[in-house]
Amino acid sequence: MAEYWGVKVEDIFNTMQERFRVEGAKGVDATFGYDIAGAGKWKLTVKNDTMKIEKTDDLAGCASTMIADSETFVGVNIGKVDGTNAFMSGKVKVDGDLGAFGKTSKMFKKYVPAKKEMTTADYIQDMFSTLVERFQPKAAAGLDATITYNIGGEGGGIWTAHIKDGKCELKTGKPDKPTTALNINEAKDWVDVMLGKSDPFSLLSAGKASIEGETGLALKLGEIFAKYVAPVQEFGVRDYILDMFSTLVQRFQPAAAADLDATITYDIGGKDGGVWTATIKGGKCTLKEGQPDKPTTKLCINEAKDWVDVMLGKSDPFSLLSAGKASIEGETGLALKLGEIFSKYVPPTGGGTPEQELLVLKKTISVNMRYATGPVMGKFLHMMKEKKIYTNKCPKCGRVHLPAREVCAECRIPATEWLEVGPKGQVRYMEYVYYASPDPLTGETRETPYGMINILLDGCVGNDTFAHYIRRDQIDRIKNGNNDVSGTRVRPVWSDKPTGSVFDIKYFEIDE
Ligand SMILES: [Zn+2]
Repeated sequence: MAEYWGVKVEDIFNTMQERFRVEGAKGVDATFGYDIAGAGKWKLTVKNDTMKIEKTDDLAGCASTMIADSETFVGVNIGKVDGTNAFMSGKVKVDGDLGAFGKTSKMFKKYVPAKKEMTTADYIQDMFSTLVERFQPKAAAGLDATITYNIGGEGGGIWTAHIKDGKCELKTGKPDKPTTALNINEAKDWVDVMLGKSDPFSLLSAGKASIEGETGLALKLGEIFAKYVAPVQEFGVRDYILDMFSTLVQRFQPAAAADLDATITYDIGGKDGGVWTATIKGGKCTLKEGQPDKPTTKLCINEAKDWVDVMLGKSDPFSLLSAGKASIEGETGLALKLGEIFSKYVPPTGGGTPEQELLVLKKTISVNMRYATGPVMGKFLHMMKEKKIYTNKCPKCGRVHLPAREVCAECRIPATEWLEVGPKGQVRYMEYVYYASPDPLTGETRETPYGMINILLDGCVGNDTFAHYIRRDQIDRIKNGNNDVSGTRVRPVWSDKPTGSVFDIKYFEIDE
């Protein structure tokens, strides 16, 4: 399939899923068709924040269908062709509901062409374009020589380095009698040597390379020129600049620009820069290259790289202004509002060098805590450790509290008189528990069914029962009681190592 600007129509569709923006598809429930001459037809289905793209000949039922030729389609998607112009000139047509189709523009992040692997020709070009800067004058002191590289095969060519008076100059072609000539049959082999994957002696002994003239000089090349280092593939300054401006309109915040009628020009210097103007009027924003006669505000940034740093949050505009690296013409107040008028630029996924994740420690923090149980509950628990069940008695109504309470709930006065009860008692009623609830103290799920009994301990009266477990194998033998009828008699089974807890009683069992 044909490529345009290095991009195939398929590339645009194949990356739609990863470029899908859920927030841009809110409330959309429709299918959209794409009929791209020379490439085929695709159907996009958007529903409930999900999308599906499929290549199909059946575009029936689509709310709208875009019709374009392959070049225009790719150009619009990668920002090489102005979409509005393409539509106005009829190079892009929309069949069906035009309004519905407009929604698709917000559903996808901009397509960023994947960086290609460097070819042999790319490497060869890069090696020779960096040869002069890799020249080491100290290692070539007193040298007056010409070194010809005669590289065959795809991506090859002939270059000659002229070294004289501590200087190096590179020319294409070969002089009549170079001091040394390296003949390499295949460019690919030379790339491997330069990348350290192979060495020149292997090539020579395999007959894949030969040396003419002074062999000694050829052996010194590793000193005369610093090692070649392949360029790091990354999202460059120009890529960021283009991405920032191609996303500017969709980052426009109409609510922050209500009643604003203004033109904002960005004049970005350096080889990666350019001039763009955002026109804001009637709650809408359009972006064009170039600038009007009198923009409301003009931002001049000397170097594109500085502006990229600002947009990526590595620097701030005030530093640039105070360092004289940027200036504002026209209404300064408007420039200060740009952070509200446009939402923050977010670099595309896959672009740039990912931020290094320094250290992540995933851990559930558990804090050991101690707290005082107070004089009353504290005494109750302390007596549990002695395998005794203590209550305190209200001096007014005579009620005994189990567990002990500071104040009588009926009389609202401190219950000061201590009294040992039990340890045996009679079951008033038992609950079968079938739900496997976790034990709040241990987090462990309890085995079901189990029985929770409410015991009227000997010495207790009325409804002041004590709740605890019954031995699991005795659940079915428990009889409830009431004021007139005694329930099953039970006794506590104590832990061997009481700690001062209500669970120093492991459970109650039938007192037989
Ligand atoms: Zn009382």
